[in-house]
Amino acid sequence: MGLFERAPAKINLSLDVLGKREDGFHEVEMIMTSVDLADHVELQELHRDVIEVSADSRYVPDDERNLAYKAAAAFKHHYQLTRGVRIDIKKNIPVAAGLGGGSSDAAAVLRGLNEMWSVGASQAELAELGTGLGSDVPFCIYGTTAIGTGHGEKIRLLPSPPGCYVVLAKPDIGISTRHIFPRVNMDELEHPRTEEVIQSLREKNFQRLCASAGNALERVTFSMHPEVSRIKEKMLANGVPGAVMSGSGPTVAGFVRQYSKAKRVYNGLRGFCDEVFIVRLLDQR
Ligand code: ATP
Repeated sequence: MGLFERAPAKINLSLDVLGKREDGFHEVEMIMTSVDLADHVELQELHRDVIEVSADSRYVPDDERNLAYKAAAAFKHHYQLTRGVRIDIKKNIPVAAGLGGGSSDAAAVLRGLNEMWSVGASQAELAELGTGLGSDVPFCIYGTTAIGTGHGEKIRLLPSPPGCYVVLAKPDIGISTRHIFPRVNMDELEHPRTEEVIQSLREKNFQRLCASAGNALERVTFSMHPEVSRIKEKMLANGVPGAVMSGSGPTVAGFVRQYSKAKRVYNGLRGFCDEVFIVRLLDQR
C-alpha cells in the first residue's frame, strides 16, 4: 500500500501583471484558491535509489520532465536522501488549462515525501523548495486561499472566499503560460481590482467577489483564442454573476451560489465546450 495525496486544482480570483523585470520575468500579483477537482498522487517507497513516475494522460510525460519527478528529485537532493520512490498520478485536472495541475502534483509529492520519509519540513520550507519547480508550487503547498507575488512564489494567506459553486469550462485547446507572457503589453493592460477582491474575502461578500474578480491576461488570451472569450460571454449571458479566466487560460471559472443554477449553466455549456465541471471551493473556514 502506498501513500495517497490529493492534488487539487487552483483557480485565480485575480491575476495582475505589475511589471517586467530586467531578467525578463514578469512581476505578478495573483489571488488563488483551491477547488475540489483533484489529481490523485500515489507514492510507493522503492528499495533502490531511483525515481519512477507514471501518469494516465497522454499529455503528461512519464519521465524526468514530469513536475512530480522534478519535485521528488529536488526533495531528495535538498535533504540528501538516497532512497527511491514510485509516483503514480491519476490525472483528473485538465492539462495546460490554467488550473495548476502539474504544480499541484509537484506540491503533493513534496508533502507526501516529507511524510513518508519523516523529514519534518515545515510548509514554509516545502514552499521554498517548490519555488524552483514552478510558480504555482508554493501556493499548492498551502492549498487554501492566498495572494502570490514575485513570480507567484511569495505567498501570503488570505481569508477564505464566500461559499459558492464554481463552473469550470474549457475549450479544446491547451495554453502554456510561457506563450502568453511575452505578448503582454504593459501599456494596454487592464489591471484587476485586487484590493477589492481581498475586501470581498474579508467580508465574505459574494456579490463583491463577483464584481471584482479579474485577470489581466484575459486580453492577450482572448485575442489569440476568441473561443475563450465566447465561453466567458456565454457564462455571463446564462446569468452567472461573476466569471474570470484562470491563469493564462483557457479555463474560465464562473461563480454561482446555488447548485440548481450551477447545473443550468453546466447544461448550457456542455456541447459548447470540451470539458465542463461543477466544483466547490476547498477552503471553507
Ligand atoms: P502552466 O501555467 O505552467 O502552463 P497549467 O496549470 O496551465 O500550467 P499544467 O497542467 O500544469 O498546466 O501543464 C503544463 C505543462 O506541464 C504541460 O505541457 C505538461 O505536459 C507539463 N507537465 C509536466 N508534469 C506534469 C504533471 N504532473 N501534470 C500536468 N502537466 C505536467
